[in-house]
Amino acid sequence: MEIVSRIVDKGLVYSGPDSQVELTTQAFGNSNSTGATTVGEWFAKIPGAQALTQYNGDAVFFDFSQFTGVLSPFTKGTGLSQLGMGTLLHEILHKAGAGGFDHPQMTDAGRAVGIFGKTGNNQSSILAQACFNNQ
Ligand SMILES: [Zn+2]
Repeated sequence: MEIVSRIVDKGLVYSGPDSQVELTTQAFGNSNSTGATTVGEWFAKIPGAQALTQYNGDAVFFDFSQFTGVLSPFTKGTGLSQLGMGTLLHEILHKAGAGGFDHPQMTDAGRAVGIFGKTGNNQSSILAQACFNNQ
């Protein structure tokens, strides 16, 4: 999971609710269809959202309050939980450079190998189970 380490090492994981980054279609696809104009506004308009990825780059935005004790701190050496790794992989799979996969595709891939989401975000849970041996 070299891309996971690269994203963490470069500090490309940001706090989403605090972000003033413009929610352009080029960088975030149709996320601005919510009417949000910044990443922070997107998190405000979608209560419970855990993460948003930059479609055309490496940045990933998280609502760390959704992952208390699970994803934080997000630094190399402290270790991510398996679900945290699944969540980050979920966001990476949305990226153009990783295929730009959508949620139904992730769900179908899990079901094809008999894995169903069981906690929190289903796609993240499927990936945690399939790729990181999350029980
Ligand atoms: Zn997603």
